[in-house]
Amino acid sequence: MNLLLLFPEELTSTQNQARLCDRRHRHIRQVLRAEVGDEIKVGLVNGALGKGRLTKIDDQCVEMDLRFDCDPPPPLPSTLILALPRPKVLKRLLQTITSFGVKKIYLLNAARVEKSYWQTPLLRPGSLLEQFLLGLEQAGDTVLPELHCQKLFKPFVEDELPTLLAGTLPLVAHPAGSDPCPASLKRPTTLAVGPEGGFVPYEIDKLMECGFRPVHLGERVLRVEAAVPALLGRMS
Ligand code: SAM
Repeated sequence: MNLLLLFPEELTSTQNQARLCDRRHRHIRQVLRAEVGDEIKVGLVNGALGKGRLTKIDDQCVEMDLRFDCDPPPPLPSTLILALPRPKVLKRLLQTITSFGVKKIYLLNAARVEKSYWQTPLLRPGSLLEQFLLGLEQAGDTVLPELHCQKLFKPFVEDELPTLLAGTLPLVAHPAGSDPCPASLKRPTTLAVGPEGGFVPYEIDKLMECGFRPVHLGERVLRVEAAVPALLGRMS
């Protein structure tokens, strides 16, 4: 945890104090081994960054005075469309994607996505929030991403994607793509990443009809959990 995130409702009415009695309290005591008077990096969820000066620590809770005075890091101007991977992979990826600063995530159905994956409890709002907070705490960011589940490939690609792509560079990560994935893109991008078995040719054709360019990361076929951070890192 490189940043202690607080929700606005956890602050006192004067907005400059907080009392925490949960895993953040344990982290401050057991991992940071902080003491009264120490300052730690804090952030307001969807708000500013700042410092918290510890005023009390005991077995139950920690109390701190707060000062918020700095903006969170800029977002990555990329929208990610990710064919839904298995829950174990999704859990880690949601944290990683959030840490990279992606603010718009679409989880998409595809021919090679197991239908049962859509039933995972991980997709419940509370579980998603937990993964997002872990990703933000890791990266020192405060702004939660928005996540949309698209369980129907064709209607999404035909009816919604054209609007979503407006003003962005659409790229589909595809090991058989003819061009290498461009690096250090400063412009808004929409990146599509396939399922563990890859997109089927029909899906690649539909994405290309929409304007997507297939790009590769070299001749090695990577697992989704390796391909996504490699692609986002390259585009950052
Ligand atoms: N046999 C599948 C194929 O050839 O598409 C492999 C799929 S790979 C495990 C899962 C996804 O990760 C791919 O659909 C693609 O989006 C991305 N990926 C993996 N390796 C890649 C590479 N070398 N270049 C571009 N994308 C890659």
